[in-house]
Amino acid sequence: MRWQGQELGVADESALPGMEQLNGLVRSVTTPEFAGITFHEVMARSALNRVPLGSRMTFDWTVNPYRGCSHACVYCFARGTHTYLDLDGGRDFDSQVVVKLNVADVLRRELAKGSWQHEQVTLGTNTDPYQRAEGRYRLMPGIIDALAASGTPLAILTKGTLLRRDLPLLRDAAEHIDVELAMSIAIFDDRLQQSIEPGTPSTAARLATVRAAAEAGFRVRVFLMPILPHLTDSLESLDDALTRIQEAGAHSVIWGPLHLRAGVKPWFFAWLEREHPELVSSYRGLFPGAATYAPKAYRQWLAKRMRPLVTAHGLRARAEDELPPRPRASAPLVPRPVPQPAMLF
Ligand code: SF4
Repeated sequence: MRWQGQELGVADESALPGMEQLNGLVRSVTTPEFAGITFHEVMARSALNRVPLGSRMTFDWTVNPYRGCSHACVYCFARGTHTYLDLDGGRDFDSQVVVKLNVADVLRRELAKGSWQHEQVTLGTNTDPYQRAEGRYRLMPGIIDALAASGTPLAILTKGTLLRRDLPLLRDAAEHIDVELAMSIAIFDDRLQQSIEPGTPSTAARLATVRAAAEAGFRVRVFLMPILPHLTDSLESLDDALTRIQEAGAHSVIWGPLHLRAGVKPWFFAWLEREHPELVSSYRGLFPGAATYAPKAYRQWLAKRMRPLVTAHGLRARAEDELPPRPRASAPLVPRPVPQPAMLF
């Protein structure tokens, strides 16, 4: 197990069978309330993560209170990161969730350093901060407090309706710092949504959360990503999605097609073979070998389809690859032509 880099060296005699040797694990927890999920509680040594120079991300600093995500989106970009813990990117990613118990305290210490330049910190870029575990551990209020108290702007991207719990806190924070809220909603067909994002709140519940955040005074952005070839890219599907996003009171939309990284592909194709075998050969053609991105021809076709729809709905909307790179206060700009909010794929 390679957990030593972020945890204290505490032996765990109560660990589950097979997990006894995790160096630094405080304890592993299962509870009937979260059947099928094991929480591995750790004491983190650091909270702020700097996005490496040269990354295509549009943000520079992140905080990830959890590793693994019970939202269990089949297409999740972050699946491969679970293999660094010697866990797999499939069922383990969905059910073995690492919880950084002390993340807010560590963050507070890091933000107090004189070298901190108060650049925006983004949450929800690797795993979802408002996944189900947050209902139990309540790490986000401490993180929001820490960022607001230090004058650090924050951005949150989530599929979690638990965001509503923290809207009053976020509204208070927004009196002192910039607060950006974004909801990821990609699938508007309930059956497909339950199949490909089995641990997430329903689309209707997420739209209601957008509405609640808008009514609380936030300009909420919706990430209509990933758009799935042959499954959600018809004119009818996209029109329905934009109609419902607009009706929910979203301020703007970012849209983009499916990406499939190497660590995700086996899990995605296993799902596709089970649920939509008729599409396997088409997807193999779109994402051959190690290809991560859909071909340029598909992206251009999708853009041509989206532009008139966006105009018809009067929405502020951009394709993900039209987003400008975020300027860095403390480092030179590097070209990042295809920004990717990590959790969306
Ligand atoms: S895409 Fe986001 S919400 Fe879905 S499993 Fe990954 S981190 Fe969680």
